[in-house]
Amino acid sequence: MTSRITRRDFVVAVSAGAIGCAAGRADPPHAGKALIAITLDLEMSRNFPKWEDTHWDYEKGNLDDAAKKYAVGVCRRVKAAGGVVHLFVVGRLFEQEDVGWLKDLARDGHPIGNHTYDHVNVLAKKPEDIQFRFRRSPWLVEGRTPEQVIVENIRLTTAALKTRVGVNPAGFRTPGGFADGLADRPDVRRWLIDLGYPWVSSKYPAHPITEAGKEPAEEVLSAIVAAQEKAQPFRYPDGLIEVPMSPISDIGAFRNGRWKLDWFLTAVRRAVAWAIDKRAAFDFLAHPSCLGVVDPEFKTVDLILDVVKRADGKAVVADLDAIAARAAKD
Ligand SMILES: [Zn+2]
Repeated sequence: MTSRITRRDFVVAVSAGAIGCAAGRADPPHAGKALIAITLDLEMSRNFPKWEDTHWDYEKGNLDDAAKKYAVGVCRRVKAAGGVVHLFVVGRLFEQEDVGWLKDLARDGHPIGNHTYDHVNVLAKKPEDIQFRFRRSPWLVEGRTPEQVIVENIRLTTAALKTRVGVNPAGFRTPGGFADGLADRPDVRRWLIDLGYPWVSSKYPAHPITEAGKEPAEEVLSAIVAAQEKAQPFRYPDGLIEVPMSPISDIGAFRNGRWKLDWFLTAVRRAVAWAIDKRAAFDFLAHPSCLGVVDPEFKTVDLILDVVKRADGKAVVADLDAIAARAAKD
């Protein structure tokens, strides 16, 4: 069985770190254990379910029934194993009529983070770089700076999540991952801090990938394992915690690499094994709109849960709040 840190624990952990209260602090929960997170970005993915699908670029939040069903299935499996899934939601989803399925997931304890309203590029410095939707319909953002549009996009998601599900966002994940996270964008980090986020998940370390459709050779697999070192949580100079995404993601494997499922399972198994061996963090990133298409039998999630179970207490399924809380204490 596994347990998880609550939002409250996190706030306590972060405030303790913030005031430098070192003496008398209890060991963080799960001390000495690997923290294995399973995260799902609730958005539609270009090239899925059909390779020619590109219209999702303009309506990332318009989740289809298959993606919702898959997200619910993943959550059910992880919960049965004693853990929770960390979900990230694109706010436009809340324009749909029925969000009861997501309310149920929140009630079951799965935290829901903010992934912006339109899946915007938080690094954009020009309006046309913010999102496909605004390139086609520039009047939606006319007269506003990228900063204003991006901050508003994050705020709207919080408002929609509160209004339709009744919960506050559990953290923020940037659409797209960046090899250096937000290291060279203190301005973006400041927006997030000002919006009240103690941590961000924005870094996806660089790693080699195969040519499309080619089975990964040992060289690529070991490079993916080596990239785990760069996917460990840390604190930026301004105090914001980074919880990176751990390679390889479903999009990296199935869109960029056009891999077969078995190749992905091998890469994920090896990466999780590294994290357990080092008692480190692993932040598995998938999209129900992509993984649900290539792995309808939930083999990847079952594999991760199985590896954690076999680790004999050396690992727990954790959410990103727990990973961030531990990084805040270091
Ligand atoms: Zn995304």
